[in-house]
Amino acid sequence: MSDNLIVVCGAGGFIGGHLVADLLRQGFTRIRAVDIKPIERWYQRWDGVKNLDSLDLRQLSSCRQSVEDANWVYNLAADMGGMGFIENNRALCMLSVLINTHLLQASLDAGVKRFFYASSACVYNHDKQADPNVTGLKEADAYPAMPEDGYGWEKLFSERMCRHFTEDFGLITRVARFHNVYGPLGTYDGGREKAPAAITRKVIEAKLSGHHEIEIWGSGEQTRSFMYIDDCVKGTQDIMHSETIKFPINLGSSEKVSINQLVDVVEQIAGIKLKRKYNLDAPKGVNGRNSDNTLIQNMLGWEPSISLRIGMEKTYAWIYDQMKRGNSRDAVVNQS
Ligand code: NAD
Repeated sequence: MSDNLIVVCGAGGFIGGHLVADLLRQGFTRIRAVDIKPIERWYQRWDGVKNLDSLDLRQLSSCRQSVEDANWVYNLAADMGGMGFIENNRALCMLSVLINTHLLQASLDAGVKRFFYASSACVYNHDKQADPNVTGLKEADAYPAMPEDGYGWEKLFSERMCRHFTEDFGLITRVARFHNVYGPLGTYDGGREKAPAAITRKVIEAKLSGHHEIEIWGSGEQTRSFMYIDDCVKGTQDIMHSETIKFPINLGSSEKVSINQLVDVVEQIAGIKLKRKYNLDAPKGVNGRNSDNTLIQNMLGWEPSISLRIGMEKTYAWIYDQMKRGNSRDAVVNQS
């Protein structure tokens, strides 16, 4: 098993980088890591991994090169970011459909044994997320389809592409719907960062500058759940290994918190209290979103193991260190 060639697409990014690190820890000896970014901008780089950098997976030829002789393929590559990015870059987000489509085709042609696709909670029907007191979203709530414009439609379409490659061509696929993932070694500024990293950065900026104020997008009453990266990496592999999960399944925390509560947590970690200014015109996404984990608990016994407080402490420590050292959005942590 550990001699099988595993390909991780999007390995220069947040989740892909952590997945490669975990595969190495488990003793996998043949890992190919692929990303469009030049290697200097990958969050993690490791010895003993075949890195294919500056490779655009929207091109079929790049996908063929990436999956040659592969046993398993994880597709974590997408042009994406937090709400600010996806609300302003819908076409770019939708162009990621080329990545998954070409990766599926190339994987089928190369005889890949198993294919993983990283979907998102953004596939869920908009109308089911109108209330901050939302009950957890069940897998069936993606239909009738009315996902997040742009990014969510791409995810839903790509999910179905996986399904039909399985049904029509026999390629084994696994799909997880990630709910907000956070942790160290990911984007925290530059416009693509998601709420936990953005809020952490803003709190640290306030602490370092002495200007004790924070801008919050929306009313702060909107709710989400947040999954620490280690839980995501484990759950991703559990789903990939499963013989029974043949449909898109939630992978996220079911601990619903408002953005205001998230700010409370980060303020406590930082040991400061900030004046909150609410920007009601900023992108804020749906009013309420949470993961219903009934299915994954029943099928895998999977539950997040890391609380929001502990996970945010680790995230805060890493971002604080980066900012103190003056690293910016292109910061790279080279661990090889
Ligand atoms: P990320 O932006 O850190 O990583 C994605 C990587 O894909 C980047 O390194 C990027 O350079 C690469 N990429 C983009 N376009 C490419 C292309 N054409 N060819 C090759 N590589 C390309 O994002 P992430 O947080 O690690 O997310 C990984 C996957 O999980 C994505 O599919 C994302 O949509 C999904 N997801 C993430 C979250 C989250 O909270 N982070 C939530 C839901 C879904």
